[in-house]
Order: sequence, then structure tokens, then C-alpha cells
Amino acid sequence: MKEHYFDYAATTPVDKEVFKSLEPYLKEKYGNPSSIYSKGQEARLAVEEAREKIASLIDADPEEIIFTSCATESNNLALKGVAFQHELTRKLARNNTKNKPHIITSQIEHHSVLNTCKYLEQFGHKVTYLPVGEKGLVQLQDVKKAITNKTMLVSIMYANNEIGTVQSVAEIGKIIKAIRIKRQEKGNKTPLYFHTDAVQAIQYLPTNVNKLGVDLLSITGHKFYAPKGVGALYIRKGVKFLPQQSGGGQEKHRRAGTENVAGIVGMAKALELAQERKEKEVKRLKNLRDYLIEKVLKIPGTFLTGDREKRLPHIASFAFRGVEGESLLLKLNNYKIFASTGSACTSDSLEPSHVLLALGLKHEIAHGSLRVSLGRHTVKEDIDLLIKVLPGIVEELRKISSFKYGATNER
Ligand code: PLP
Repeated sequence: MKEHYFDYAATTPVDKEVFKSLEPYLKEKYGNPSSIYSKGQEARLAVEEAREKIASLIDADPEEIIFTSCATESNNLALKGVAFQHELTRKLARNNTKNKPHIITSQIEHHSVLNTCKYLEQFGHKVTYLPVGEKGLVQLQDVKKAITNKTMLVSIMYANNEIGTVQSVAEIGKIIKAIRIKRQEKGNKTPLYFHTDAVQAIQYLPTNVNKLGVDLLSITGHKFYAPKGVGALYIRKGVKFLPQQSGGGQEKHRRAGTENVAGIVGMAKALELAQERKEKEVKRLKNLRDYLIEKVLKIPGTFLTGDREKRLPHIASFAFRGVEGESLLLKLNNYKIFASTGSACTSDSLEPSHVLLALGLKHEIAHGSLRVSLGRHTVKEDIDLLIKVLPGIVEELRKISSFKYGATNER
């Protein structure tokens, strides 16, 4: 049976050209980039070329790119790095450190941001979690209102991985810049940094760090056809942060640990290819996504989650009233259709997605979610199969569901 992969937002296969570019660094060019002999320097050169390539694609300087193991690490480094550095600076200046700095984020960030914020709260840092409303969008006036004299970091994702909504990052960047200038005029020395998690966005949306007005930006290779286990963090020159991994002097003492040379080479190649293909691919995926949305919404008791327009070209997320998401996935799996749901099975409870709950969905409705994410190998035939089998599966599951689906518009 042919496989129909609809989970590109979870991960992607490694592109053939990407694999070709990185393979030598797993085999004959296996040197350690910190070694001074030529075999090491050949690897160093590859890492630095990759850094230049990635920097130029986002309009940054190569020194502003730090390689990491994944976006979870990039997000941790961004948030903990600037929060703890700020605290250290104040401690050294013998300032009152009881008054902890303030961070602003949204309720629908990836867990690598949300749980890092919760971690920082344990150290007394104050965090504001902005609501996103029914459509999953952060409101500019909410950002403006939330910023106080003590706010040191705003972290708002570029685009959401579950519902695909795209935030007004450039507009938020402008607000932050204006407040930063006012602060400087008043002599307030608290820094005000802007971080964005661009993991789902970078391959499809314009990602120029200067136009976006961001100071820190996280990415991960495996979402755009590079291997798993490699990511990067852009850190604007002048941003003060405390490294979170102690060890050797790699990455100019900002992130210890031998570089994943092959992964880094592959990630740079993958980003370059994504950039070349962006325009055409965005158009193609949007058409497929809209076709999918139109057909799926014909199933009674179904609605789209997130904003209809401000969304990534490759993500469509639905809620089916009276259906349990995990069962839906298992039924689809019988057809070798691989998708995902907002429910995540934890040890002993089935927790609905925090993103769907933030949209105001009831628990039982949030349980019936399906995320379909498209990618380079998705063709119309895949979608046709999905929309052929989906209505029957939904009907079947509703029959056995303890949550009775009435013809309501309940969310
Ligand atoms: N941020 C977003 C928006 C994501 O979608 C993901 C992965 O699902 C991550 C962060 C974490 O990426 P990684 O798996 O590379 O740690």
C-alpha cells in the first residue's frame, strides 16, 4: 500500500541533494572542526561556509549565527540565555535583583518556549502569556499594553505549528523598536529583546531579520528537508546572553560541544533549496491546502481552527465534533495515511492541545482535532484519498463516541 504522508510540520524527509552535500562529512571528511591539521580545517571551512550561507539567507552576519542541536535548544538558549544574563548583570552591578525581569510570550507557543518560560518562573521571573482569541492571533495592542519598564524579552512565534496561523511579527518588531528608543531616551538600561520561533515559517515566509525587527530567531533543519539533530539561533550583535552549555570554546564560547558538521552542511543546503523553490512551492501548496479545506469542511460538524487567511501554506487543522482525534489517526493509519492530532497522550491522561484550548475550544471538541500538513511530495491524489475516506471514518467514530454529536455550532 502506498504511504500518504501528511505530517510535514512534524518532520520532513532528507532531500536527495541535501544528502549528497552532507554525505562526505559523514564519511571521508569526518575531521573535527576544532583540529588544526588540514582534515580538521576542511570541516571548519564547511561549517563556516554553511554559516555564511544561512546568514545571507536571513540578512544576518555570519557571527550572528550559532549552531545548535535543534529548535528546542535554540529556544532554550534564547530565553534562558538573555534572562539569566540580565540577572547576572544586575547582580554584578549590585542592583536590586529581587525585582526580576519580565518576559512576554503567547499562550500558543511551542512547548520549548512555554516550558522554558515556566522554568524561568521557578526562578522568580515574571511571564505574561498573551491570549490569541478564537483565530489564534496575537493582538498588537495586547503586546503594547503588556510591555512594562521591566520587560526584557518578548517571544512570539512567527507561525504556529498546530493551526498554522501567522503572527504579525514585523509589526510587533516595530512596536518593540519604538519602545526601546523611548527607553533609551529616558535612561532606562533594561534591554528589550525580541525573539521569534521561525521553525515552521522560514521555508515559506519572508525571513529577513532586519525587516522583521527581531533580535533572536530559532530554526531547525528537519522541518525543511535537512536531517534531524541540527538547528540554529540567530542572535543580533550586541544582544547580551549567558551561554547555557558549558564546555569547550566552540561557537566562539557561546555553545560548547563539537559541531554536527554534516547536519550543518545539510541544513545550509536545505535552506538554500527552500529559498530557491519558495515562490513556486508556496503557490502549489496553497492551492492544495485550499482544495483540502474546501472538501473537508463539507463533512458535517467540522470546522477549521485558526485564521482562514493568515496561515501557512502547508498547514490545515480541523476539529470534528463528537470524534476522538487519536482514534481518527489510527483509522487513517489503516490506509497508510499519516497525519497528527492536537491531543498528546501523556502517561495517564489524554491532554487536549494547549493551542486549541487557547482558541477557546471546549476540551471534548479540542480532542477531535486533525492537523494535516503538506510538503514537497504531496500531490492532489494524496488529498483525494484523504477526503474520500475521511467522511466515513468520522461517521463511524461518531457512532461509538460517548460524546454525542448534535448538529450544533459548538466550539
Ligand atoms: N518550535 C516549533 C514551532 C516547532 O514546530 C517545533 C517542532 O515541532 C519546535 C519548535 C521544536 O523543534 P525541534 O524538534 O527541532 O526541537
